[in-house]
Amino acid sequence: MTEYFKQVSAEIVTVGTELLLGHLIDTNSAYLGQKLAEIGINVYFKSSVGDNDDRLLQVLKQAADRADIVVITGGLGPTVDDITKNAVVKLLNRKLILNERILEKLRAFFSARNITMAQNNVSQALVPSGAVIIENNNGTAPGLRLQNENGKVFILMPGVPREMKLMTEESVLPFLKETFRLEETIRSRTLKCFGLGESTVDEKINDLFTHSTNPTIALLASHTEVMIRLTSKAKSVEAAAEAIGRVETEILRRLGENIFAADEGSMERTVAGLLTAAKLQLSVAESCTGGLIANKLTDIPGASKFLKLGIVCYSNDSKEELLKVPATALTKYGAVSSQVAEEMALGVKKLSGTALGLAVTGIAGPGGETAGKPVGLVYIALSTPAGMQFKECRFNGDRVKIKEQSAQTALDMLRRYLLASQTR
Ligand code: ATP
Ligand code: MG
Repeated sequence: MTEYFKQVSAEIVTVGTELLLGHLIDTNSAYLGQKLAEIGINVYFKSSVGDNDDRLLQVLKQAADRADIVVITGGLGPTVDDITKNAVVKLLNRKLILNERILEKLRAFFSARNITMAQNNVSQALVPSGAVIIENNNGTAPGLRLQNENGKVFILMPGVPREMKLMTEESVLPFLKETFRLEETIRSRTLKCFGLGESTVDEKINDLFTHSTNPTIALLASHTEVMIRLTSKAKSVEAAAEAIGRVETEILRRLGENIFAADEGSMERTVAGLLTAAKLQLSVAESCTGGLIANKLTDIPGASKFLKLGIVCYSNDSKEELLKVPATALTKYGAVSSQVAEEMALGVKKLSGTALGLAVTGIAGPGGETAGKPVGLVYIALSTPAGMQFKECRFNGDRVKIKEQSAQTALDMLRRYLLASQTR
């Protein structure tokens, strides 16, 4: 039992000054974090270090003190700023030895491409004593695997994501699984919620958090959704899925239609699925969202099946001319009003002859507010065969956030209409 629940931990170290300067986003550690979790390895720390010997050594020391496995990417190339090998050699008291087989492989790699091998490439064939080579079938710098006297494992891989990923899948993960006799897996599932604030979601489900350690539950909120992440650690993928499934069912029972998607799903994907299933066509008239709704819907392959027309009617003139919004409505209520939103929805629906018309008009800011009409005031209207629906929203945030919330809310309104009409 103890053997089975043995906790193995890894620390990820990414090397490269460009990572610190923000010129390069560290996607390697995100990838590695996921892959290590999948085989049941806990990652408690990750660091990025610049191309500096002393600081790298310091980070490696610390990592080796608190983790069983140290996975390092970057700094394995042939140039002077590629310092990883030297730091590891220093830390573990090894020597660099020229490996003829790698040198031969490097020569062959370059001659196959008709390039003369630079002298500094020879350094890539230097291997720390006691290291095992991890073949690089996608590039020149081989990866390396070492173990210190306490059994701590050091994995060195090139920074190039394509090379690092292939090595991870082909040899690093199988090696770690075998060495640490890992029988556990960690799986996550993310439920996406819209229409309830983070604290409301918390209130509705937090008793599940306190009573469940498998899966664990975490909430992550952004301006367009609340994500509920369920993470299970179990002996098999099936057992993890079963543990997640139990809690998921309960969350769905409590939050119902507010859950709009899971994992890679999105609001627009769900709406696209519902429109396709209902064989309904949509047209969209957008003012403050500037085409964002149409853009999101056209991200979904096969959008032509359900999206017939999208118009950005930013000016009053275009609202009048194209959508036939009565001039009186514009002057009497203003462009940002429920009346104009409804006229826009009706207008675009008539223009294209679709069953559904969706329209948005609002003030995205930062200027443009008038008496009684603050920045963030947005009206959404949905014209359906069963009549007109409208919604008045008051969003916070900058211009882009207001646009995103408007688009998400409009799509959600459509989603809820389609769900309700399924049961009619
Ligand atoms: P090479 O043999 O290509 O020099 P290397 O091991 O020296 O490989 P780096 O020079 O550190 O690796 O990085 C090579 C390239 O890989 C970088 O320019 C960058 O595009 C990418 N890269 C490096 N580290 C990361 C990272 N942590 N996340 C994402 N991309 C990375
Ligand atoms: Mg390099």
